[in-house]
Amino acid sequence: MAIYSHSRLSNFEQCPRRYYYQYVARLKVEKEQTIEAFLGSRVHDAPEKLYRDCMCGKLLSIEQVVEHFYTDWRERLHEGIRIVSTEYSSDDYRRVGEECLRRYYAQYAPFDQSATLALEHRVVIDLDGSGKYKLQGYIDRLAQQSDGTIEIHDYKTNKTLPAQAEKDQDRQLALYQIGVQQTWPDASEAELVWHFLRHGRTIKSTRSPADLDRLKANTICLIDDIESRRDEADFQVTESALCDWCPFQQTCPARKHLFKTEALPTNRFLGEPGVALVDCHTALTGEINELKGKITSLDEQREQVVDALVAYANREGVTTVVGSSREARVTEQVKIVLPRKSAEPEEYAELDRCLRAGEAWPAVSSLDPHALRRIWKGDSDDSGDVRTMIEPFVTEESARQVRFRQRKNGNGMAGNDNSCDLGDKQQEV
Ligand code: SF4
Repeated sequence: MAIYSHSRLSNFEQCPRRYYYQYVARLKVEKEQTIEAFLGSRVHDAPEKLYRDCMCGKLLSIEQVVEHFYTDWRERLHEGIRIVSTEYSSDDYRRVGEECLRRYYAQYAPFDQSATLALEHRVVIDLDGSGKYKLQGYIDRLAQQSDGTIEIHDYKTNKTLPAQAEKDQDRQLALYQIGVQQTWPDASEAELVWHFLRHGRTIKSTRSPADLDRLKANTICLIDDIESRRDEADFQVTESALCDWCPFQQTCPARKHLFKTEALPTNRFLGEPGVALVDCHTALTGEINELKGKITSLDEQREQVVDALVAYANREGVTTVVGSSREARVTEQVKIVLPRKSAEPEEYAELDRCLRAGEAWPAVSSLDPHALRRIWKGDSDDSGDVRTMIEPFVTEESARQVRFRQRKNGNGMAGNDNSCDLGDKQQEV
């Protein structure tokens, strides 16, 4: 079995298909580095240099740390680095990095709060004690307090400061704690420490032995789930905001068409068959919605005419009112009104109870195919084992669905998110 890592597991959780491309199919793609990732790496390197020098008895000044950071930045910056937020330049990001370091230095100089044991330390975690489920990771800084408590430090340049509760559930450093305690069994106390450098904030958290046992069990379950999947179809496509940063957009069915068409000049873009079909559907949907709006308005007008006709017939003492080509017959009708589940839930429940208790129930009840479908799909409680009962009667047919949604930067009609079941008609599209 492969050696896993926290980022590999996160990759699977975010989008199993991306995981498939990266770790199963091992597709070769040119990975683009973003300025945020570049900033993170450069800011990361500075405390490493700072603490490495401290371990050798040398305390760098803040100006030396910043100079090291600037040199590193200059030497490694290249044109291929992608700046997603184009209103900022690489110099803006460099300044953010410098501020992060100045803030950290002011907070922790002379860096003697704990003794550094290792930097960029590789840790291996054996989840089940047999070596079958293994993970590895790198600890930014491993340190020890004077009372022996181990500190596991992580440096972050995230724009958003997470909540304490979120870090109390964080998997990465807790897994590292397991690895550290397996390496040094006498390290019974450990503290997880995140430095959010943009905010000058430190978040700390601890884990109990029971927390760590739960984490091991959950992580083993997750690995078993990944290992049980074989084919591409087993790794479902899961779109999210992260797709914009995915290196497999050219291959992924959710992004392939966008990727193929976005570089086309306008005339070729509009003539591309897929684009033309979606545009045609959008135009037709617009027309249908316009007509529906008209129909609603006409229905309302007709209701008003009916009311006026009834009033006329009453006033004139007639039951038939003639028109040029048709006539209206106005009759008294008794309308049967039953309690509705949504509007009168208590009366509805009472009626339901009475009917079920009486002998008339078979005559007035009928199958609810929606409820049965929900149970079949596992979306509803099945304490009565309905699934087993209906199994001989159910067949599963493949039906594709087409959903339309507004493109982020597209020019189509706004707001419509409609879908249609194609069933057997899918070939027509
Ligand atoms: S583009 Fe999005 S949906 Fe497709 S593989 Fe990448 S992350 Fe997953």
